[in-house]
Amino acid sequence: MIVTGDWVVPVRGRPIPGGAVLTRGPRIEMVGPLESVVAAAPDDTVETFGGHVLMPGLVNAHTHLSLTVLSGLIPPMPLRQFLERVTSAVLCLTDDDFAASATWGALRSLSCGVTCVGDMAYGPEPLASCADVGVGGVFYWEVLGLDAADLSGELAEREFPADVGTCSVGRTRCGISPHTPYTSGPELLRATWNIAHRHGVGFALHVAESAAEQDLMHRGAGLLRETADRLAHGFRPPGVGSVEYLEGLGVLDGAVAVHCVHLEPGDAARLAAHAQGVVVCPRSNRHLGNGDAPVAELSSVGVPMALGTDSAASNEDLDLFEEARAAHRLDPTLTPGRMLAMLTSEGAEVLGLSGMCGALAPGLQADIAIVRTGATEDPVGALLREGGAAAMTGVVSSGIWRVRDGNPARSTASVERAAARARAAAERALA
Ligand SMILES: [Zn+2]
Repeated sequence: MIVTGDWVVPVRGRPIPGGAVLTRGPRIEMVGPLESVVAAAPDDTVETFGGHVLMPGLVNAHTHLSLTVLSGLIPPMPLRQFLERVTSAVLCLTDDDFAASATWGALRSLSCGVTCVGDMAYGPEPLASCADVGVGGVFYWEVLGLDAADLSGELAEREFPADVGTCSVGRTRCGISPHTPYTSGPELLRATWNIAHRHGVGFALHVAESAAEQDLMHRGAGLLRETADRLAHGFRPPGVGSVEYLEGLGVLDGAVAVHCVHLEPGDAARLAAHAQGVVVCPRSNRHLGNGDAPVAELSSVGVPMALGTDSAASNEDLDLFEEARAAHRLDPTLTPGRMLAMLTSEGAEVLGLSGMCGALAPGLQADIAIVRTGATEDPVGALLREGGAAAMTGVVSSGIWRVRDGNPARSTASVERAAARARAAAERALA
């Protein structure tokens, strides 16, 4: 199949006027001017999108797709109370509910052009749900409140792959996450990190999200003290901030550090020296009253930086373009090129998926977002301005149409019914 529009923005490489993408099965075979692509594949059908810009599928580097049915059910509130509300809702959801919630989240992601995620998973459901509808990425099994000695039993029960080979199937990758430094004790942080490194899989955690977290780290006091006492077995306040604490434990190496709002002097450099990348979630941070991440400082130290919506429970929607515009408000010096990269190639880099997605290039997954911009001489600026669910005319992932004419390419009625049932159960639990 050949897809062409007014412009192709490959991200790696300059925008191509009248460009086209040739896909072969799940992969991209060629990207270039329409005439040369047609000359190379004269028998392929050509899909033409006037007034549109083609870009790679977006990478939403921090999601909790299993929680999508909680969208709009929990009003803005401080993080500790928010986590309590989420926990009481989650406890009443079945595995089928999680699967329905994740599938619904994956479909909503596709409708915004997102084809890859870094998802915090409680078990195998989101991975299966996403694989089913054509969303790839890293699915981090999230553990917390355990003794390190119980980790392998817990992971086995939650169907984390015991053999390394099955951690990487098709366009999905398994990872592991110890949630936060205040819900996993130091031994559990080390044990999860060791498993991630033994398996060669991703390791991600929420870091320095709230002022309360830093209060706990420095003084052993504040809103999260009780949570830490209950869940972070063996935790002693280290007297330093979260990033320095994780560095001292040796678990910052190769980590994906999510949020990084309340950084302390030297933390950005620590992240740049050790972490695989940082994910910023500006709208979720505001929603939970956690403040604003120091995007300009992170940007200046050279640590790869991705964008995440966080869960639909703590955001208005899963629209990553809105997240990019929110990040730009925090650091207006971010160039259009950098913002585009954060939405795509840099997001893939943070998740360790540069060989799979994040650009339009031969060999990568055929993930294409087709964005209605109108006629433009500035395709990158137009994408950043106009991009979003309302402008998403088409989405292809693994070479298959997922969104066509602005609508899901296949019926979503059964998913919506199952998600509505899960949502009703969560609503009852929260009443
Ligand atoms: Zn999160």
